[in-house]
Amino acid sequence: MDKIKDEKNPSGPITLKSGYKIWVDRDLCIGAATCIAVSPKAYVLDKEAKAVILDTIDEDTIENIIESAKACPVVAIIIEDEKGNRVFPK
Ligand code: SF4
Repeated sequence: MDKIKDEKNPSGPITLKSGYKIWVDRDLCIGAATCIAVSPKAYVLDKEAKAVILDTIDEDTIENIIESAKACPVVAIIIEDEKGNRVFPK
């Protein structure tokens, strides 16, 4: 069973080791799983077919995590840098 990073906030916001913050807008997520295809270490779908963030997300690079957010067809993944500046979507 994949381990969720934060059981209380499965879709985030999560603060990564890099200091970046990431979350999935569950109202927008349609379970397309494109994000998982790009970053299988970062996400898995829950029972409601919404993306949740895995404990292994810190094993992926921030560059690839940003690519996974860009790949989401409904722009449901939001990323901020360590200073709180929006990285994606701009
Ligand atoms: S790609 Fe977007 S819509 Fe699809 S599961 Fe990931 S967050 Fe949800």
